[in-house]
Amino acid sequence: MTISENIIARTEKLGAKNYHPLPIVITKAEGVWVEDPEGNRYLDMLSSYSALNQGHRHPAVIRALKAQADQVTLTSRAFHNDKLCVFYEKLARLTGKNMFLPMNTGAEAVETALKAVRRWGYKHKKIPLNQAEIIVCEGNFHGRTLTITSFSSSEKSRQGFGPFTPGFKIIPYGDAAALQQAITANTVAFLVEPIQGEAGIIIPLPGYLQAVRKICDEHRVLLIADEIQTGFGRTGAMFACQWENVVPDVYLLGKALGGGVMPISAVAADEEVLGVFEPGSHGSTFGGNPLACAVAIAALEVLETEQLGEKSLTLGRYFVNRLRELRSPVIREVRGKGLFIGLELTEEARPFCERLKTLGLLCKETHSRTIRFAPPLTITKAELDWAYQRIVQVFDAR
Ligand code: PLP
Repeated sequence: MTISENIIARTEKLGAKNYHPLPIVITKAEGVWVEDPEGNRYLDMLSSYSALNQGHRHPAVIRALKAQADQVTLTSRAFHNDKLCVFYEKLARLTGKNMFLPMNTGAEAVETALKAVRRWGYKHKKIPLNQAEIIVCEGNFHGRTLTITSFSSSEKSRQGFGPFTPGFKIIPYGDAAALQQAITANTVAFLVEPIQGEAGIIIPLPGYLQAVRKICDEHRVLLIADEIQTGFGRTGAMFACQWENVVPDVYLLGKALGGGVMPISAVAADEEVLGVFEPGSHGSTFGGNPLACAVAIAALEVLETEQLGEKSLTLGRYFVNRLRELRSPVIREVRGKGLFIGLELTEEARPFCERLKTLGLLCKETHSRTIRFAPPLTITKAELDWAYQRIVQVFDAR
């Protein structure tokens, strides 16, 4: 038994089976490369579901982590710390919003926003108490808590977990007319991913977000953009909404905000929305902790100084074009925005991911038939070419 096999067996023996990882153990990582205990190196084309836009262990992020670890790591929000204000100021500059609420995971940011927009509806839109409706999209993925699961359209995600939280309406993704029809006097918000990630990198037609913005404005419905996976340069812009010059009322941020080092998430909005919370109405023990904030500040600086959004755009275009050159009967479509790329197959994608793994390339299927290529945005063209050679070996039939 190899070291990796031993570790996997022990992990599988005691762990709940809510994931189905590829059979690889990562014990070391740097930049876009990871290593197993046997010393094999792999190129990471998943980036922990876009939480590693800055690459593994970016030196500036690790420096910030170590420096903060030597000062103070946790204060709870019972007291102030000196990093949270800097974190807020950075977010203010990036988003143009004037109020922020820090949490830890993406799902917590989503939950926070759902609470905020319901209260906003009762306070500002004078909706009858407990009647607020929130509209979401088919194929959505916003996390795994019970309320978020309540409005998932995936039966696998919901089966056996009821009873569910009421107050949500599901409409087709990419269909602005469906939004218009679904809105009632009690609608407080529309929650949407600018590009659906877990659904298989689903890119709506141009004009969708613009149309959605207009409809929300006409009906005084808050537009919540879940940029947890699409944000921070992943699609070639700081936020994917920028592709349509749309500013949502609420941004949901997470993943790469923590530079692949610390879980940190945030809701960014204006005071009219986030001002609905008073002390005691919401919170989190670790939310806004100085260690995560220091890491996030550094992670955001790396995005800007290394112009990772711009890199993502150029390299993403290059890689999508190369993937489109592949001649394979199993490839149905290649689609992408920046380095957020989906290769849709005509059959199950997992065996292809397993073969790519044996060639040193790590990626993961999403929605069973789509392979997501979302490497760290620090990847070079030469490394993408290296990846492409492996992909050719697995797919190209010529
Ligand atoms: N929202 C989107 C769009 C996501 O892709 C994810 C995670 O994949 C989440 C929310 C949930 O984030 P977390 O896993 O940190 O709770």
